[in-house]
Amino acid sequence: MIEIEREPWEKMVAHARATYPNECVGAMLGVVDGGRKVVREAMPLENSFAGEQSARYELRPEDLLSADREARRRSLDLVGIYHSHPDCGAYFSDTDLKNSCPWYSFVVLSIRKGDFDHANSWLPNAEQTAAEKEELIWPKS
Ligand SMILES: [Zn+2]
Repeated sequence: MIEIEREPWEKMVAHARATYPNECVGAMLGVVDGGRKVVREAMPLENSFAGEQSARYELRPEDLLSADREARRRSLDLVGIYHSHPDCGAYFSDTDLKNSCPWYSFVVLSIRKGDFDHANSWLPNAEQTAAEKEELIWPKS
């Protein structure tokens, strides 16, 4: 399961609303305690996809590396990646699966008409053929 603390959660939602109707993407920094991940900080990154960004995001490998370095500098781990789905559900698309890494949690935020609607977290398998839903806890209201 993955739990997101209030401060990073509010940052993620604000980021997703700010980039609407385009997808946002960012890194989640936190700690792993057995099967439980706690997100302490969110780090907005740039969606580097060159085409239409309303249904697609791309991350530069160097941005992911610097997020990882930043996590370690703060004695945290890079536990996952978040991105938004403007005006559609928080499912894990085939493209999301293709661009995933099995060691991260992938949180998808559904933004409808510019406002937060719901979210899911996904754990891709090593073959990148399927993603299992992970229990996700975020601060309500
Ligand atoms: Zn997606």
